[in-house]
Formats: sequence, structure tokens, C-alpha cells
Amino acid sequence: MRKNFVLQIFAAFILAIIAGLIFGERATVVQPLGDLFLRLIKFIIVPLILSTIVVGVTGAGNINKLGKLGGKAISYFLVTSFFAITLGLIAGFVFQPGKGIDVTPGGEAVEPAATDGVIATLLNIIPTNPIEALTTGAVLQIIFFAIFLGVAITLVGEKAQPVQHFFDGLAEIMYKITGIVMKLVPLGIFGLLAPIVGTHGASVLMPLIKVIIAMIVAVIIHVAVVYSTAVKLLGKMSPLKFFKGIFPAASVAFATCSSSGTLPVTMKNTQENLGVSKETSSFILPLGATINMDGTAIYQGLAVMFIAQYYGVDLTAAQILIVMLMGTLASIGAAGVPGAGLIMLTMVLTAVNLPLEGIALVAGIDRILDMFRTSVNIVGDASACVVVEKPGTEVKKGA
Ligand code: ASP
Repeated sequence: MRKNFVLQIFAAFILAIIAGLIFGERATVVQPLGDLFLRLIKFIIVPLILSTIVVGVTGAGNINKLGKLGGKAISYFLVTSFFAITLGLIAGFVFQPGKGIDVTPGGEAVEPAATDGVIATLLNIIPTNPIEALTTGAVLQIIFFAIFLGVAITLVGEKAQPVQHFFDGLAEIMYKITGIVMKLVPLGIFGLLAPIVGTHGASVLMPLIKVIIAMIVAVIIHVAVVYSTAVKLLGKMSPLKFFKGIFPAASVAFATCSSSGTLPVTMKNTQENLGVSKETSSFILPLGATINMDGTAIYQGLAVMFIAQYYGVDLTAAQILIVMLMGTLASIGAAGVPGAGLIMLTMVLTAVNLPLEGIALVAGIDRILDMFRTSVNIVGDASACVVVEKPGTEVKKGA
């Protein structure tokens, strides 16, 4: 069954490329199929995060355990993000994609991404109105609400049982809905990718082909070296099993360019194919989809190098350090939606005094770069679950 599904996804990729190449811009007629799928997976997210985190917290039953889990995951997120941004910078240095290219930045004015400052951003995780957080889909606020709710349910005990059962039931229902919607993954991938292939002709891609190649190489190295090693050494899982298991979610991320949108599929794959418990995955994955973005970090490093080269600016060692710091922050701050990384790039450019017009240089191919970075983002989140839980060893212990 699973093999068949993976084959269907492959077929969808190939058909989308063929349809896009043959029909060009007319391939956009299948966009509604893609949008249908996108809307279906997006509508799952809020109730899924809320219910599964409540269940995860009440299931863990103990706040210390949860704190440990979160601490380990966040440390892993930071270390891998650091590798990612370094790799992006190295790729920019090796490929020199900004040297001698012939593209003119578009004239649009670009505003730097507004940042509220560290304290305000942290405070903002606490929703003043949890219902508003739910209706606007503010993921970090929902996570906060759900954790607090779960902790309080545990503390109340007996009297809170009906609420706990309600969330248990809701979580099961949301998993079921995810399972049903997942059947449409190949169709969704086709509907989303064919228009992209059709509208991104060679004239858009060719001038910036070096950036695309540098991105792909950096992504492959990050996945093959960092994740394989982490999953193998820390998570005690065969990298092959890991990559096979997470492949459907990575494909959905590739097609949707949204880590948040892919979340239901990432959860399903992580639990069913990688054997990670619901407690761990329902806690780490929503968090990861919001703050752990290694693909975005790779992109920040590479894009800064590209823009600096284009404008003939040699970055000093101090500036490189600033890029590493700001790029990591930008990847943490980027929302799991299409194009978020591009907007956050303004923050990094401003920090090292590079012209914001540089954004316009890469904007034309952002969708393509976004496909790669989003896939890496969600594979990174799944690898965190494996590293933190070591599901293989636990199965053996339990067997
Ligand atoms: N699209 C990415 C994501 O959802 C974020 C980004 O633009 O880098 O993970």
C-alpha cells in the first residue's frame, strides 16, 4: 500500500513536469485541484494542533518530562540551524552565483520585515484571547494555550476527565480526517506543481540557475550529512528508513511551500512510518513547523552571499557572523507559509547594510527555492522527533 502511494506521488511529479512543459501557462487550469488539496489540509491544522498537544501533555502526565522533551528538541533545532546557515554561506562562496549575472532588480520598493524585538516577540506567544489565536491560526499561541490546557487538565484530575476525553476523541477524529485527505496527496501535488512548472519558463530560471543549483547542492548535503548522521547516531534509525518514511510529507512540503500546511501529513508519516509516539510528535512537530527551519536558514546564507556578490560587496568576518546570527533568527521567526523566508531576508540584509532591492533579484525564483527549503524544513522537524525519541530502540525494548 505504502509503496503504491509513493509511486503515485512520483507519477504526480513526473506528470506535473510534463504537463507544465507542454502546456506552459495554460497548465494553470489545474490550479483549482491544488487549491482544493491545500484548503483541505489547511483546515485540519488548528483543531489538530490543539487536540493533539492537549492529548500529548495529558498523556505525558508530567511537566518535567515535557520540559525535557522541549529542551532537547530546541537544542537540536539550534544546532542544525547553525549547520544549515553555515552551509548556505559556503555554497554561496563556492558557487559565486552573484558574480557576472545579468538581471536587473525590479523597481518595487521593499520594506524591511517588521520585528517587534525579542521581548515583545516572546510575550506575544501568550495569547490574550485563545479563541482569537484559534481563529487566526496563530500557531505558537495555540501551542501555548494547548500546553497550558493540558497541564491544567492533569492538575484538576477527576473533574476534568470529560474535557480530556473530548480532546482524545477530537484528536482521533482529526487523525482520521488527515488519513482521508492524504489520499489526495498525489492529486494535490499535480495540481500545485504543474502550474509552477508551466509559469516558470527558462527565461525566468536561466539567469539565476547558479543560485538554484547552489541551493539544491546545499540542501542535498544538509539532508545527506546532517540528518543522516543525526538520525543514525542519535536516533538509532537507518537513514533509509527515515527518508522513505518522511518522503510523502517532504513531497507535500515541496508542492505547497508551507511547513504549517504540511503539518498533518508530517504528523501522520512521523507516527506511522517512523514509529514516533503521538505524545512526542504532537508536541515537537507543531513547534518545529513554526520555529525550526533549516531550509530557510540555508537560503538566508546563500541569498545574502548572492546579493553581496551582485553588488560587489565583500562581507567582513564580523558581517558573516552577523549574517549567521540574524539568519538563524530569521529562520526561527519565519512563519511556515510560502514566501516567508524571502520577507525575513530583509531583516538579514538590513543588519549588514546590503541593499534591500536585492530581494527583487531573487523574488522571481523564490517559489522554486521555497520548494526546496520547505521540504528541508519539515524533514528537519521529523528528524528532531527521531533524535529525541529514538523510536527504534523503544520498539525493541517493548518487544
Ligand atoms: N515556506 C517556508 C515554510 O513554510 C518558509 C520560507 O519561506 O522559508 O517552511
